[in-house]
Amino acid sequence: MRLHNAEALLLDVRDLHDRDRIVVFLTRERGKKSGVAQGSRARHSRFAGQLQPLAKAQVTWYEKEGRELVRITAVELLRPAHRLQADLEGILLGSYLADHMLEFAQEEESSELLFRLLDSTLEALLEGADRDVAARYFECWMLRLAGIFPAPDACPQCGRALAGGAVLPPHGETLLCASCADGGGGAGGRGLGLAITAGTLAFLRRIGRWSLPQASQAAPAAATLREVEELCARVRRHFLQRELRSYEVIQQTRATL
Ligand SMILES: [Zn+2]
Repeated sequence: MRLHNAEALLLDVRDLHDRDRIVVFLTRERGKKSGVAQGSRARHSRFAGQLQPLAKAQVTWYEKEGRELVRITAVELLRPAHRLQADLEGILLGSYLADHMLEFAQEEESSELLFRLLDSTLEALLEGADRDVAARYFECWMLRLAGIFPAPDACPQCGRALAGGAVLPPHGETLLCASCADGGGGAGGRGLGLAITAGTLAFLRRIGRWSLPQASQAAPAAATLREVEELCARVRRHFLQRELRSYEVIQQTRATL
């Protein structure tokens, strides 16, 4: 048994039996961890009030070799997230951010950049950053860190600069210039591809240089944000071969509003 202690972001908290909870948390050095917080559902538990999804906390846990579940012995809240979860939209956004980490972060693997992305996004949201811009910024960076961000500078087929616009082919992960997208023909052709405007390309280029507060200050038009969202969703789906459950819920909720 080895004792560990680290700053963590809580990704998921689920009931286990009638006394315990399973907590999935993200650490910088040891990646994603799943652990049991024994007795955390009991009335006078030492975990009372500490196990909040998306909170930042100092977590202490025991690890036993060969065991997937660790044993969590202490959780000390450093930054609660309940302000983000005061309304439905915030709750959905929070689970959407956490879902990405549950999907993309690995166990036992340094996750410094993923940790920083989620940590800084939550920090900005708790300070009142625009939620739409924050979600789009987060999606773009998530794809960058996963190595699947579609390059917004030049067409990978002909090398021409993507200045006036680009196309994401229906079964592609990279942005092409209009003539290469047209030339693909058949199923790879432009027919069902996603047209990306110059404004969206500019946003995608800026994202690498700007912090989220900077991006919020110069918030792009709503139409640009929708394009970014659709582009990221398509690339992500293509990579994962399925949709994130939390994103389906967001879309269903939007449709009923
Ligand atoms: Zn081209």
